[in-house]
Formats: sequence, C-alpha cells, structure tokens
Amino acid sequence: MRFCTQCGAPLVRQVPEGEERERAVCSACRFVHYENPRTVVGCVVEHEGRLLLCRRAIEPGHGLWTTPAGYQEVEEGIVDGARRETLEEADAAVEILAPHALLDVPHIGQSYKLFRARLVDGRYGVGAESLESRLFAPEEIPWERIAFPVVSVALRLYLEDLRAGGPRVHLGVLRWSGRGSRFDAAQYELLDHLAVPLSLLP
Ligand SMILES: [Zn+2]
Repeated sequence: MRFCTQCGAPLVRQVPEGEERERAVCSACRFVHYENPRTVVGCVVEHEGRLLLCRRAIEPGHGLWTTPAGYQEVEEGIVDGARRETLEEADAAVEILAPHALLDVPHIGQSYKLFRARLVDGRYGVGAESLESRLFAPEEIPWERIAFPVVSVALRLYLEDLRAGGPRVHLGVLRWSGRGSRFDAAQYELLDHLAVPLSLLP
C-alpha cells in the first residue's frame, strides 16, 4: 500500500502516537492503515481413505498440488468459505466434519483455517483455477510437488493423526527460516504446536 485510502496522499512508515509498532500513516490526513492477517479457508477432503488435491492453474504455485483453499470473503463464515473454495477449485460438494488445523504464517500475514471434510456424493471435478483434481492414497502424495509449505504441514499432520489412531485439531505457527525459498517446506518450523484429540467425533 502506497497511498492513503481516505485522501490519496502518499503513506509514510511511522509509529503513531500512543502505539508501539510502525504503521503506514497518511502524510496528509494522518489516517493509520492497519495491516492484519488475511484468513485462508479450505478443506482436507477424504474419500475412501484417499485425499483430494487440486493442481493449480494459477500463480503462485502453477502446476503444483494443493488442498482446496483460498481467501475468506468478507461476507461469509469460515465454514461456508471452506466449502465454497472446495466447490470452486475441485468442483466438489463437501460436508465439513471438524476443524483440522489453525495455522498462522506470520511472515506472509496469512492465517489458515483448514477443515476435515468428506465428499457428499463421491463426485469431484476440475474447477476454473485448477488443471486437474485427484484422490491420493497417503503413500502417493506428491510431497515434492505441493504448492505451499503450510499445505504440506497440514497434510503431514492429517496423516500423523491417521497413524496415531484418531483425528485431532491442530494449532500452530509456521516460521520460515529466512533461508532458501519461501516455498520450500524444509525451511519451515511448526512452533507452539497444540494437538487436541477430537475424541467426541462420531
Ligand atoms: Zn490521507
């Protein structure tokens, strides 16, 4: 952001009076432009023991695989948003079962809210933002071709739960090492990981 949304004058980085953090402040009308994380909503969709992934038709990550996910719209809730993204990217109607992972990615200002879901009627297709969609058995997941580190982490946690004997809700913060590519999952560490069993799920 370079110009004031209120008056169009250039913005400057400074600490507003009474605050401790540098913000984008208007050089003319002094309006403070707060920058807060954006919420990404999506689903880990399971069908008969396999997970639904989409191959991206858009950047970033063109040609790479991801769970259906995207930015929450202003007028919708997170569950509706996760369902909408799955319909848009995988042409799939899903039933949301439970939260799966609430993962913050601070260096890119994103907050992921991913849900466990299952296909309503077993059908899926290819949405406008995807090149193809496919169900992967756990051992088939193309780890080297996953678009975003946060998605790799969410899938890894999902599979750990499968092996550990039951679903859990995961919370955590993904910190980038600052080295190498921001798209390299090996450069990320999962901090403050909290895993709460979903033992009450049917
Ligand atoms: Zn202004």
